[in-house]
Amino acid sequence: MACNGDCSNCNSKEKAAEDCRLKSTMQNIKHKIVVMSGKGGVGKSTVAVNLAVSLAMAGNSVGLLDVDIHGPSIPQMLKLGNCGVMMENDMILPQEIGSLKVVSLGFMFDDPDGAIIWRGPMKIGVIKQFLSDVAWGELDYLVIDSPPGTGDEPLTVCQLLDGDKKAVIVTTPQQVAANDVAKSLNFCQQLEFPVLGLVENMSGFVCPDCGKVVNIFAEGAGEKLAAKYGVELLAKIPLDPVICQGGDEGTPFSQRFAKSVPGKAFEAMVQKYF
Ligand code: ADP
Repeated sequence: MACNGDCSNCNSKEKAAEDCRLKSTMQNIKHKIVVMSGKGGVGKSTVAVNLAVSLAMAGNSVGLLDVDIHGPSIPQMLKLGNCGVMMENDMILPQEIGSLKVVSLGFMFDDPDGAIIWRGPMKIGVIKQFLSDVAWGELDYLVIDSPPGTGDEPLTVCQLLDGDKKAVIVTTPQQVAANDVAKSLNFCQQLEFPVLGLVENMSGFVCPDCGKVVNIFAEGAGEKLAAKYGVELLAKIPLDPVICQGGDEGTPFSQRFAKSVPGKAFEAMVQKYF
């Protein structure tokens, strides 16, 4: 049922007003994609940034929300730094890069090396505010970069999202990573949160001299996980220096190195599944 903003019948007016704001923000977003992983360092933020950029390049209006509170990488990966957060009519204004709108907690902190020491309720409150109080406007896609694991942050995001919502789960090819990523798949199953599929990142190394793909890690963890949990393997993205360079310099590889092997793999995934 559409929310008309009338909370007068609710027991707790404040809570009801919050829920109303969340609902009306969600109503303006067609598709919500949560990028998650059971393990850190597997390329979750890289996938989130490049997915958002690719969707925007394909003509969609896209929001990118970074709820990785302890390690927000999005500002660096998009060259936004600690640009601060502007408010208008009690709503957070996202930073805009063309048709891509971005919000990250990392915008607010002067010291990029500073540690954020917050307990669960504080994190849950901030995530709730990021989901309900951002002036995204009408969006085709909201891509959410969630921190690794199955703790407060991904749980809050999954429980608060409404409408069309799906998870993209990132793994690397080694069994050690796949074991942790299986926990994310279980997490989604338990919450009945739909999974669009898996991305196997760092899947082989592209030699910069000859372009040959060398499998540095083991092979096949993505395929095995996808088969075991009955989900799609959306893409295999190789290890490639252009990805790291794009991330460090704030110029996403899907745009700057669109013709590279990972650039093409990413484009094919976006065309086929989104
Ligand atoms: P996570 O969000 O899972 O912690 P990141 O996306 O921050 O991981 O990636 C960690 C680092 O690895 C970053 O420096 C990123 O640029 C780099 N990286 C990620 N995927 C690749 C890849 N396929 N090839 C080369 N470097 C990569």
